[in-house]
Amino acid sequence: MPPMEVSFNCVMQRRDETGMKIIDTHCDALLKLQMEKRRVWDETPQLLDFRHAETLDTNLERLKRGQVMTQFFAVFIEPDLPSDEKWQHALEQIDLFYTEIIGKHPEMKHIRSWRELQELKEGEIGAVLTLEGADAFGNDLVKLRHLYRLGVLSIGLTWNNANLCADGAGEPRGGGLTLLGKEVVALNNEHRVWTDVSHLSIAGFWDVMELADYPFASHSNARAICDHPRNLNDDQIKAMFQKQGLIQVVFCPSFINAGKDTASIADLIRHIDHLCALGGEKQIGFGSDFDGISDYITDLEDAGQYQNLIESLLQHYSEEQVRGFAYENFLHRIKALA
Ligand SMILES: [Zn+2]
Repeated sequence: MPPMEVSFNCVMQRRDETGMKIIDTHCDALLKLQMEKRRVWDETPQLLDFRHAETLDTNLERLKRGQVMTQFFAVFIEPDLPSDEKWQHALEQIDLFYTEIIGKHPEMKHIRSWRELQELKEGEIGAVLTLEGADAFGNDLVKLRHLYRLGVLSIGLTWNNANLCADGAGEPRGGGLTLLGKEVVALNNEHRVWTDVSHLSIAGFWDVMELADYPFASHSNARAICDHPRNLNDDQIKAMFQKQGLIQVVFCPSFINAGKDTASIADLIRHIDHLCALGGEKQIGFGSDFDGISDYITDLEDAGQYQNLIESLLQHYSEEQVRGFAYENFLHRIKALA
């Protein structure tokens, strides 16, 4: 047996012992699948194979290698698309979720309610549909109700731009929720769907805190550590924890280190330390943003490398704490929703 193989086996064995299940609350694999399929202008449209396409950070093989037990898949609509094409794009991404992710892979289990997530069996990987920005349904609540029926369990009102519901984090106006936005939050409450604040303006965030029964930040870091409008300041973080919400750290280097496109796992852990210092030990988790980012944390470059993060965390935190970050904090919270 060549030496390389010996050390590889040792590493694998160590990871099996310390490996932990993971819940990841944000990725953009659906957008990537759709963009490749729609590449009609260069006449080489491709259907990416969800099992092992190299270009998918969150393909099935990588989810298994990283021990991801549940992956959230966002429906994301580019802000510059003409309004009348947005619903069609959302439907296409949802269709790819059903056909390419759920339909072709028996291991992938569509989670349509929080109870189903709690009842996942060994060997199954949960797949949750989410919406990143209300642009998809415009002001049409019939479409929104269809999204709930299709299994969407988390809704962010905006991406970075403004829309009919609210202003996003990148909108200079900085407005809060419109009457329509408030109605959407009320509908989320009724359907026990998370209202995701990760891309909202600060004013929008505070409106959601007032109205949402299930507030959530699916992929955001701490602004005190990295001053970026996509991150949450200490007052926001404390308010989220007070409302029993969860904050899921994101792996995008420019949200980890201000003005940089590189980051280490240790840099990410500084955000986790800060969130814990503000009382969030039982209310944080991971929302990688894989397939939505083009720069990566070193040694955490796809879902298959998740256990590198776990190993590093175990050097700073107890096994119980790390298990909380990895999946138990999330499972604990949804007990109240199931
Ligand atoms: Zn995002």
